[in-house]
Amino acid sequence: MNQKVVIIGGGIIGCLTAIELVKKSVEVLVVEKSSIGNEASKAAGGVLFPLMPWNYESFVYGLCKNSSKYYIELEKILFDNTNIDIELINSGIQILPPFNNDEIVNWCKNNFIEAEKSSFNNHKTLLIKDIFQVNPPKLMRALKIYLKKIGVDILENSEVINFEQNYNKVIACDVKDFGKVYGDKFIIASGAWSSQINEKLSKFVYPVRGQVIQYEKSDIKLKHIIFRDGTYILQRKDNSIVVGSTLENVGFSKENVEESINFLNSRAISMIHELKGLKIEKHWFGFRPGTEKNKPIVKVDDFFDNLFLNTGHHRYGITMAPHTATSLVDYVTC
Ligand SMILES: Cc1cc2nc3c(=O)[nH]c(=O)nc-3n(C[C@H](O)[C@H](O)[C@H](O)COP(=O)(O)OP(=O)(O)OC[C@H]3O[C@@H](n4cnc5c(N)ncnc54)[C@H](O)[C@@H]3O)c2cc1C
Repeated sequence: MNQKVVIIGGGIIGCLTAIELVKKSVEVLVVEKSSIGNEASKAAGGVLFPLMPWNYESFVYGLCKNSSKYYIELEKILFDNTNIDIELINSGIQILPPFNNDEIVNWCKNNFIEAEKSSFNNHKTLLIKDIFQVNPPKLMRALKIYLKKIGVDILENSEVINFEQNYNKVIACDVKDFGKVYGDKFIIASGAWSSQINEKLSKFVYPVRGQVIQYEKSDIKLKHIIFRDGTYILQRKDNSIVVGSTLENVGFSKENVEESINFLNSRAISMIHELKGLKIEKHWFGFRPGTEKNKPIVKVDDFFDNLFLNTGHHRYGITMAPHTATSLVDYVTC
């Protein structure tokens, strides 16, 4: 029997989950309160690697590894179908001191990742190889076009405010100013807002604001992503330089971004002195779906047996999305 699955949220998690469902011949509707990719997913830096995996439980890296393989295939599919280059680049990450060399080298060895001594602007650095980056705004733009091409229905500017239930089954979701949307199965992929539609998640998923800045174009050329102590600097294909990102526990507040912009600017200049004097051309922020220890929630709901959760990817949702989308789809379709 043909099943209809309703996905609530059209960020990277909702979009890749939709693609994986279509591969299994499932009919999919994505309900999005704003527009596809407009929140955390578009705001991301696009590094396809957990920035300091040696600081996390191995489970976190397990969800991230091989992500670039998925994106290499997706890049081609998206380009063939949309003509949009998602700017997947194998740039590696160059770590600036101070860092614990032995800890990182051992971690890399244990995870079969190549790392070697290198240098940058007179610093002795460590280069971790085969780390990819992608351009998130382009990725999300291409995904929206591709989803439509493969037959996914998309309802934008439509906020799910409630579920209609019959004991432990969700029958429909109530969409503000639209009405009821019926389905056989429902997936919450609503990022930082997930607990607003499923209160039980409020203990586990919370917003963590992240700020990013972008400098005006210059002659500076970066061969690798440059990283020091939580801050990364990367270059897009058009040469623009992007610096990310802050971790701010301010709820959904959009106030007081000046301080975070100044913080990133001074961190970036301390890492690459040539950035001093360049204008900050753009800045933006997003609300990550924060979770303890960066462990996403990918499972069937504890009460409703046709409601599934794919949320809480915190700092690494672009990287983890391929893995959690395929795992969740296995639960949904089994
Ligand atoms: C500044 C910053 C930098 C980052 N850098 C990286 C990085 O380099 N690499 C990496 O892997 N990750 C990075 N991340 C993390 C990554 O962006 C997130 O983990 C990921 O985007 C989460 O995806 P999502 O689809 O769950 O959330 P979102 O992209 O926020 O999507 C959730 C969607 O659900 C919609 N929604 C919410 N409630 C409802 C509702 N009631 N009804 C309908 N729709 C609803 C929202 O409008 C939104 O579009 C970064 C994040 C930020 C903010």
